[in-house]
Amino acid sequence: MSNEQPTTNNNSKMIPPIGGAVRREVGGVSEDIFSAGDAHIKRVVYPSGYKWSTNLKPIVGTDLCMHAHVGFLAEGHMRIEYPDGCCIDLVAPQAVIIHPGHDATVIGDETAVLIQFDFDKETVSRLNLPLEHEHAK
Ligand SMILES: [Zn+2]
Repeated sequence: MSNEQPTTNNNSKMIPPIGGAVRREVGGVSEDIFSAGDAHIKRVVYPSGYKWSTNLKPIVGTDLCMHAHVGFLAEGHMRIEYPDGCCIDLVAPQAVIIHPGHDATVIGDETAVLIQFDFDKETVSRLNLPLEHEHAK
């Protein structure tokens, strides 16, 4: 680990609200949300130290996050853990497809910024995604 952090990507950078978006903050996560037909475009900001099972599980009440997340990780590093032990590191810039039934953690001291497209509870069916994490046969 180097002590020389790039000044443009450190956690002290303020990430301002997006004008015209609906803003929602829950469990330390902030979302700026736009409607696009039946879908939503969201900028989701996860702070350093965030972990779904710590920050959101007590609020959501399920064992794992049961949402699908599809989009683009614009900043930061997130680790997705599935119940079979699979562990997937997402490092920006990277396209993202996360299946229902996972935990998620921000790795390192950089804020993670995910640009997400979703159909709320219909994301899996509308995008014809697998219902859960699976392995190619
Ligand atoms: Zn697996």
